[in-house]
Amino acid sequence: MAKEYVDISTLKYLLYDVHQLDEVLQQDRFSDHDRESLNLFLDSVKEFSDRELFPYFKEMDEHPAHYKDGGVEVHKQVDVMMKQGGEMGLISSVFDYDEGGLQLPMMMYTASAFIQDAANNHLPGYVGLTMGAAELIIHFASQELKDTFVPKMLSGDWGGTMCLTEPQAGSSLSDVATKAIPQEDGSYKMLGQKIFISGGDHQYAENFVHLVLARIEGAPAGTKGISLFIVPKNRPVADGSLVSNDVTTVADFQKMGQRGYCTTHLGFGDKGDCRGYLVGEAHQGLKYMFLMMNGARIAVGRGATAIATAAYHASLEYAKERPQGRKLASTGKKNPEQGQTLIINHPDVRRMLLLQKVIAEGSLSLVLLASRYYDLKETLTDQSEKEKYSLLLELIIPMVKTYPSDMGAHAVSNGLQVLGGYGFCTDFILQQYHRDIRIFPIYEGTTGIQSQDLLGRKLLLEDGKALQLLTEQMTQTIQSALQYDGLKKYAATLGEKLQEAAKVIQHLVGFAKKGDYERFLSDATPFMEYLSTITLAWIWLDMATNAKQALVTGKKSYTEEFYESKIHAMKFFFKYELPKTLGLAEVLQDDEVLTIAGEKEVFN
Ligand SMILES: Cc1cc2nc3c(=O)[nH]c(=O)nc-3n(C[C@H](O)[C@H](O)[C@H](O)COP(=O)(O)OP(=O)(O)OC[C@H]3O[C@@H](n4cnc5c(N)ncnc54)[C@H](O)[C@@H]3O)c2cc1C
Repeated sequence: MAKEYVDISTLKYLLYDVHQLDEVLQQDRFSDHDRESLNLFLDSVKEFSDRELFPYFKEMDEHPAHYKDGGVEVHKQVDVMMKQGGEMGLISSVFDYDEGGLQLPMMMYTASAFIQDAANNHLPGYVGLTMGAAELIIHFASQELKDTFVPKMLSGDWGGTMCLTEPQAGSSLSDVATKAIPQEDGSYKMLGQKIFISGGDHQYAENFVHLVLARIEGAPAGTKGISLFIVPKNRPVADGSLVSNDVTTVADFQKMGQRGYCTTHLGFGDKGDCRGYLVGEAHQGLKYMFLMMNGARIAVGRGATAIATAAYHASLEYAKERPQGRKLASTGKKNPEQGQTLIINHPDVRRMLLLQKVIAEGSLSLVLLASRYYDLKETLTDQSEKEKYSLLLELIIPMVKTYPSDMGAHAVSNGLQVLGGYGFCTDFILQQYHRDIRIFPIYEGTTGIQSQDLLGRKLLLEDGKALQLLTEQMTQTIQSALQYDGLKKYAATLGEKLQEAAKVIQHLVGFAKKGDYERFLSDATPFMEYLSTITLAWIWLDMATNAKQALVTGKKSYTEEFYESKIHAMKFFFKYELPKTLGLAEVLQDDEVLTIAGEKEVFN
């Protein structure tokens, strides 16, 4: 195991200097918090993660969650995560004081969960999903349901899950078939199967509160007929005790990664005695889920970022200790008399490490930016400002979920390569990060589905207003960067990229205007890569401008080396990553169509 898994200085730099958390703290909702109290909270989370999460990371992979006697057995640290997490407020941190929460900004929640994810990504999901399920109940369910379920969830005594997926309904939720039959007492009789349910059952919670998407008998077909239900594993009865609610754990999926984070197959109503309680109004289930989706997608981007970060630290540590080969002399020849050099001195290894760094730190900046937009849209009182941040969040959210997931997996693969043969062996941790991160482009909407959301929905939102707002944000950064000689070249490049992107978008939107939606969305995934790479170039230019400003003004909170390193990383991104968009722009504007029709051998 590596010695360290996060860089707290970079995290605090991004929070306070680049993304101005202090400005967010000006809002009334956060008036009890200041930098000092929030740093104490972060320090306590780091201490908890060092002690209770990181040391068990490898062990949880080697002894995975597994099905036994109708339930799932998980590692004992799940108990610690749930109970101590509950006590520390990790489940309730962003909720209102009235709901038992701490009213922390989303930025701070993201930062604290990022530390936990980097320490051991098999554990925080148990509390994260419990928080997500509680959030849905708090926002949309009746007071009675809130009183019955939420307090035990926030304390970590009861687990929470999100039950959307069914064998025939994965990416397409309009095919959800779980049935809900109205009963005289106002409850519903539930009947159906849900698969791939994370945290669905284990020995350390006395109850599970499943938030289930289902169709009330006679409801319209498609997404409009889907409702949301609370379906507990054990239902509370009049005397306050719990009775079995006919929820069966059918199986546990054995996976290539995140093996300590159980994934269950649940059956509802096998014996005809499973009760569900409607959340909010009938047929509004998907709408409620989607209102909570932004938080869930930030969480997925954050988790992938955290794994890429931990992998970067592990690769870096190895590269500084592993001797291999000799440096090339100026003649181009190696001197065998010379002692071996450390692999960190080989330019190709440095390239891989810098690639890991720009993806991990760039992704962290992106998820914190999304969290900032989230906080501002939730707390600002000025309606037009609120709407501005809401639109910005909507536009970037598919990229926030996808870039850290796809490129994080690429970064970890490069990190494994840094270790050579040892990277492939279980004695070293990189292979585990490589397996763990692979799920991120799949759950919470695959890359393909997110890409269609970005191009097909978000780009056209309010006649392109969201895109216009994002372009304005990028242009502001370009203007700031232009003030510094050392950054002018990069600012100009980003400006040119924005012009190129406008042409690419105009070309693609042309298909939508002609009503050819299949063609419009056929290359949505390359478009996602294209726009995300440009967005990350902006993220890096912003970080470098901030660093340059600190160096020039002398208002420094960190060492000179720290700021120089951020500027160096930005240059790396512009040299090695941004130019890839040129090829993608060509692909996206090419008239040849190869994926819709024409191929006989593969597609027949
Ligand atoms: C470890 C794990 C944990 C999970 N946790 C949960 C959970 O807690 N709760 C829950 O409800 N679900 C959970 N899921 C389910 C997850 O969200 C789904 O696996 C995911 O949405 C994809 O659905 P699917 O597996 O049915 O794949 P499919 O939908 O069959 O997709 C297969 C491929 O086809 C592509 N595709 C599908 N439709 C389209 C389309 N219209 N256009 C273009 N491409 C398309 C996809 O992008 C993908 O590449 C989990 C899954 C896993 C593996």
